[in-house]
Amino acid sequence: MTAIEPVRGDITRESVDVIVNAANSSLLGGGGVDGAIHRRGGPAILEDCRRLRAAHLGKGLPTGHAVATTAGELDARWVVHTVGPVYSTSEDRSALLASCYRESLRVAGELGARTVAFPAISTGVYGWPMDDGARIAVETVRAAETTVEEVRFVLFDERAYEAFAARLR
Ligand code: ADP
Repeated sequence: MTAIEPVRGDITRESVDVIVNAANSSLLGGGGVDGAIHRRGGPAILEDCRRLRAAHLGKGLPTGHAVATTAGELDARWVVHTVGPVYSTSEDRSALLASCYRESLRVAGELGARTVAFPAISTGVYGWPMDDGARIAVETVRAAETTVEEVRFVLFDERAYEAFAARLR
């Protein structure tokens, strides 16, 4: 059984095996949580991302997929980058958002990670409504078959924290 808990705070301050990044498909940096992770983690993360782009991810990382790099100076062993879907009112992209959580856990498990911190993927610039984003995150992690022992949802503000805490109660 995986323990799941909501935490209010900045994900770049977490001490865990894996910090999940809500990246964009270029893997070459962005704003929000992506910018914060690269700022605090230092240039080694971007160097790894560039290597991945030069190797097997020439077109970038597809939405719903996940890939690991070093965590640089973060207090973690790896950063797992995943690309959330942009929210759409004309198309149901929930399966892609669920895939981000499932694939990140799969990659983390393959690495031997026991503790994983997730941000609320797609709920920032990508516009996913927080309550629905929290529902998909919690349902997907609860249903995942994983060797990861502990999942922390690290929520930046009180509204996000409440949305996740309510789903976990
Ligand atoms: P996306 O493009 O997937 O929407 P964002 O980074 O814009 O990604 O936002 C995802 C979520 O991460 C938002 O809820 C945002 O408030 C939150 N967030 C931003 N910075 C941090 C941080 N340092 N730690 C944890 N969560 C963060």
